[in-house]
Amino acid sequence: MLIKNLRILDPATNKDCIGELNIEGSRVPTLPQLPDGSLDGTGYIVMPGLVDIHTHFREPGATDSETIQTGMAAAIAGGFSIVTTMPNITPAADNEAILRFQIEEAEKYSEGLVKLYPTACCTKGRAGKEAVAPAELPSAIAFTDDGNFVAPDEAMLQVAKACKELNKVIMDHAVVPSIANGGVMRECEASIGEKIFPDAAEVEAVKRDIEVARKTGCRMHIQHLSCAEAARIIAEAQAEGVRISAEATPHHLMLAAEQIPSSTASNWKMNPPLGLESDVQALRKAVLDGTICCFATDHAPHSAKKKEGGFAKAMFGIIGLETAAPASWTAMVTEAGMSPIEWCKAWTTRPAELLNISIPSLFEKKETTVVFLKEEEWTFEEKDIASKSHNTPFVGHKFTLKVTGLAKTC
Ligand SMILES: [Zn+2]
Repeated sequence: MLIKNLRILDPATNKDCIGELNIEGSRVPTLPQLPDGSLDGTGYIVMPGLVDIHTHFREPGATDSETIQTGMAAAIAGGFSIVTTMPNITPAADNEAILRFQIEEAEKYSEGLVKLYPTACCTKGRAGKEAVAPAELPSAIAFTDDGNFVAPDEAMLQVAKACKELNKVIMDHAVVPSIANGGVMRECEASIGEKIFPDAAEVEAVKRDIEVARKTGCRMHIQHLSCAEAARIIAEAQAEGVRISAEATPHHLMLAAEQIPSSTASNWKMNPPLGLESDVQALRKAVLDGTICCFATDHAPHSAKKKEGGFAKAMFGIIGLETAAPASWTAMVTEAGMSPIEWCKAWTTRPAELLNISIPSLFEKKETTVVFLKEEEWTFEEKDIASKSHNTPFVGHKFTLKVTGLAKTC
């Protein structure tokens, strides 16, 4: 069907314009018909489907929290065309068989709209000791021990050298555990009696990773950046030509530690913890100036049982696929003044580039997944969740953008 009067965000050509597209699929929003038989897309934004480079599905291992099937449903609900699964499943994703399993399982539930690319561990069994051999893992789109910092410098250097040869990116969960020392929250009103997470845990990890990138020339990517000082040293390294990049999650850009209602509010517990308001402002600035090149969800489903016990006991992590576009648009476009096309790139071409995937222009008439968005104020409710788990602090939150469909251009 031909849809006219759409606002098209096309990151490949840097265009933000009104135009028409041929689109097919069962998830196209209901649109009025024009006299010439085409459909009227007035009021809708269309752009390439979002690319998430940081997704946790829990299969195999913790299917009480998420399966590949429910995870793919969450990705479709959130407007994604690509999800990149992290290797902290059980058993850990350090071999081709488990990478292939995820790809094949996801194909069953993709509706032809979403593709799953798995990452593999940096260390065998994700145990933080012995490096994997990246050349023997062709199905891995990138390498990370996410959930854990790759602590031994030797193992990290070995993986970095191999990834440099393969031109694959390393993504690091930059938190030094001995410095974090079990910290669950930054110092704020709700943190009284809880273990405090010091910025140094992230900053020291980022410094080590900058050195690895400097020494080996590998592409190093810092996951879920959470504090001002880490953003500052990354900008400094980038200015020196070090190949280091970083992502920020919608929750680290939208929520601050000062907003945590209490130490029993487990759905506000994630790793790294929320920064202070000053960190949120610094992260937003780092997105605007390009230090942080992209957004990423860190979609981390946990069953209600695993989120019991408040900050002291609950597992780290919140779901994020369904709220990714709305929360990041509200924080960055509405509140921080980011241009819609730059916001679009941070969800599409820029994360795709890290994975060596190209997003074609919507004007090339190639078959591409596109997302329908609408600018409107609405309140996120539990019924909007497609994930098997409901661990999110965003229920009841107001957003200024809504995902209204996912389809294909033709
Ligand atoms: Zn992580």
